[in-house]
Amino acid sequence: MKVLVVAAHPDDEALGCGGTIARHAAAGDDVAVAIMADGVSSRPIRSDVDRAAEFAARREALKNAANALGLHRHVHASWGLDLRLPDNRMDSVDLIDIVKELEGVLQSFPAEIIYTHHGGDLNIDHRITHQAVMTACRPMPGASVKAIYAFEVPSSTEWASDSLPPFRPNHFVDISATLDKKLEALQAYAEEMRPFPHPRSFEAVQALAAWRGASVGLKAAEAFPMYIGLLGKGNASQPEALHQQVNAGVIGMKLHEAGKISDETHTTLLEASNNPELSKRKAGDIITQLKELEAKRGS
Ligand SMILES: [Zn+2]
Repeated sequence: MKVLVVAAHPDDEALGCGGTIARHAAAGDDVAVAIMADGVSSRPIRSDVDRAAEFAARREALKNAANALGLHRHVHASWGLDLRLPDNRMDSVDLIDIVKELEGVLQSFPAEIIYTHHGGDLNIDHRITHQAVMTACRPMPGASVKAIYAFEVPSSTEWASDSLPPFRPNHFVDISATLDKKLEALQAYAEEMRPFPHPRSFEAVQALAAWRGASVGLKAAEAFPMYIGLLGKGNASQPEALHQQVNAGVIGMKLHEAGKISDETHTTLLEASNNPELSKRKAGDIITQLKELEAKRGS
C-alpha cells in the first residue's frame, strides 16, 4: 500500500505522525514524505551562519528522521517530492500552482492513504498545505486516494483560535510500540525542539501521545480527524473497519489487475469494501483470504 505524508516543513511529518509512519514502514507499506517548504528561509539571516549550510542541515535532519522512522528504502522518493515553496509565505504562491505540483506528485506516487495538516491550524503554510491536498485529491473516477487523515503539530494546531475549525480526532493509531522511533526522529530535529514546558518539547510530545492514547484506552496514540467525504462508502462509523476495508479493496484491485482473481470475485470484493455495515473482523477475514489466494496462485 502506498502512503503519502504531505507536510509543510521538515519536522511536521515526525511531530504530526512519526509513530504512524513507523508503523506503516514496519508493515512493509511504501511510504513517501513530501515536504512543501524548507522551514528555514523565513527566519532572519544570521551573520554567523551560512544560509546554504542551514538548508543542508535541515535536509540532513529530514533524512536522519526518515531513517529513524524506518523509511530507508523510501528516503529517495521523499527527496524527489521536495517542493521547495517559500517558507511561511506559501500564501504568496497561487494555490492552483501548489495544487498542480501535488497532482504531479500523486501521478508519480499514486497514494492510497494520505496524512497531512489540519485545516484549522494556526500556521499559514499548514493551512495552505491542507487546502492544496484536499483540492488535489478531490474525488475523480480512478483516483488512487481512499482516505485522508489530518495530524496535529504541537505549538501550532492547539494554538489556533476559534475563528478556525477545531481539531476533533475520530481516528486513533496505537503508537505504543513506535513512540520511541518518533522521539528518535525528533532527535534529528533537536534544533527545532524546545525545553519543557514548551509544547514542542520531548516531554510535551510524550504527554500528548499519552493523552491521545488514554482517550481511547491505549498507552500511546496519534490522533487524526479522518476526511471520509472522499470515501463516501464503507463503514464510516468504525474507522478501523473502514481502514481494513480500504486495505481489502486495494489488495483486491491489485490481484484483479494482475489477473489473479476473476471479474466476479473482484465485484464481490468491491461490494464488501463498500459495505457500510462490514465489521473490522470481517474486513480482516477478507484480507486474510486474499493474501492466501495471492500466495496460492503464485506470481
Ligand atoms: Zn510546520
